[in-house]
Amino acid sequence: MSSAVHHTDVLIVGGGPSGASAAISLLNYSNCSVTLVEQSDFNQTRVGEHVSASIFDLIDYLKLSKSDFEEDSFIPSYASKAYWGSDLVRTTNSIFTTEESTYQMNREKFDFKLIEVAAERGATIFPRTKCIHYEQLADKSWKISLSHPEQKSFMIHAQYLVDASGRSGNVCRKVGAPSHQYDILMGVGLFLERSDTYFEHILESVDLGWWYAACLPDHKMVVTFFSDADLISQNKWHQLEAWKSQLQKTKQIKLLFDGNQALSNKLWIRNAQTQMSDVRSIDRFVAIGDAAVSFDPISSMGIGFAISSACFATKHIAQELEGSAQTIDVFQEDIVRNFNQYQQIKSGYYQKEKRWPDSLFWQRRHQNR
Ligand SMILES: Cc1cc2nc3c(=O)[nH]c(=O)nc-3n(C[C@H](O)[C@H](O)[C@H](O)COP(=O)(O)OP(=O)(O)OC[C@H]3O[C@@H](n4cnc5c(N)ncnc54)[C@H](O)[C@@H]3O)c2cc1C
Repeated sequence: MSSAVHHTDVLIVGGGPSGASAAISLLNYSNCSVTLVEQSDFNQTRVGEHVSASIFDLIDYLKLSKSDFEEDSFIPSYASKAYWGSDLVRTTNSIFTTEESTYQMNREKFDFKLIEVAAERGATIFPRTKCIHYEQLADKSWKISLSHPEQKSFMIHAQYLVDASGRSGNVCRKVGAPSHQYDILMGVGLFLERSDTYFEHILESVDLGWWYAACLPDHKMVVTFFSDADLISQNKWHQLEAWKSQLQKTKQIKLLFDGNQALSNKLWIRNAQTQMSDVRSIDRFVAIGDAAVSFDPISSMGIGFAISSACFATKHIAQELEGSAQTIDVFQEDIVRNFNQYQQIKSGYYQKEKRWPDSLFWQRRHQNR
C-alpha cells in the first residue's frame, strides 16, 4: 500500500463531457492545477448523441474547433420526425432548439477527444481509479482516499471537489448533498450497422413509453426504447426478445430496424430519469453535468448542459480559489431557474400525447405537471 499524497487545486470526479470540459476550462482560464479521476478505462459504450449546433460555441470557448475532432465525429441532421400524439408525422428542426441544424455525434470519439485535450493542456488524469472515501478538513479542503488496480491505495488532497460523475451523482451522495429524483425513466437500446439509407431522427410514442431511432456517424444507427424502470423490469424489456416484440408495436421505428444488422445481441440499459442535486450546503464543492441536473433524453439537452455547466462552474471555482468571495451559489440558483423552465417545456411535450389515458406510463407524465 502506497502512502503518497497527490496535491491539486481542483479534483474532478468523472471523465465524461462535463468533467473533461471542466478540466479544459480551468486550464484555459485560470492557474489552478487540475486532477481528474475516472473509474473506467474510457472504453465503455457511451450513449446520447443528438446535440444542437450551439455545441460548437461551447467547444469554441474550450479553445477547440470542430476540425480538431476526428473525421466523422459529427453528422448534421436537419429535421426530426415525431409520431407523437397521433399517427401523423410532425417534422420540426428540433424539439427544443431554434437552430437550423442539429448534429448526431460519435460519443466515443467526442468524449475521448475532450479527455485527450485535458491531458495535453496539463490535467493529471487517473483512469481506472475509484474514490473510496471523502473527508472535508477544517480549512474546507478535501482529503480523498482512492484505489487503482495496480497502484493500490493513494490519497489526493484538493482545495475544491467537483462531482462530474454523471447520473449516478456518486460524489453528491457520498458527501451528503441532497438530490431529488422526479421520475424513473430508463432507456434500453441497441446499436446497429446501418445499410446506406439515411433517415432523420425519429421519435414514436407507444402505450407504455416511447422509441427513438437515429443515424450515427460511421454507418451506425441507434434504436432505444424509453419506459419506466418498474415497467421495464415487469415486462422484461431489458431482454432482447421482449424488447423486439415491444418494437413491433411501433409503426415507423420497426421499419428502420428491419434490414440492419445489430452490433450486439445484448441490449444496453441506462437510467434516464430527471433529477437535480443541490450542493449549497457544502463548501468548496459543486456538481456539474448530469450530476447537477439529469434531463430527460427527449430534450437532447444533456451534453450541451454538461459542457456549459462545467464552463460556468469553473469560473466561480477559479475566482474563489484566487481569493475572491464565494459565488458558487449564484451558479446553483441559475441551475434551479433553468431546471424549472425545462420541467415546464418537458411537461408540455408529454401532455401532447393523450392516446393512452389508462397507461401508467402516460398517467405518470400527465400528473407530473
Ligand atoms: C439513453 C440516453 C440517451 C441520451 N441521449 C442524449 C441526446 O441525444 N443528447 C444529449 O444531449 N444528451 C443525451 N443524453 C444525456 C447525456 O448522455 C448526458 O447528459 C451526458 O453524458 C452527461 O455528461 P456528464 O459528463 O455529466 O456524465 P457522463 O457522460 O455520465 O460521464 C460521467 C463519467 O463519470 C464516471 N464516473 C462515475 N462515477 C464515478 C466515480 N465514482 N469515480 C470516477 N468516475 C466516475 C463515469 O464512468 C463516466 O465516465 C442521453 C442519456 C441517456 C441515458
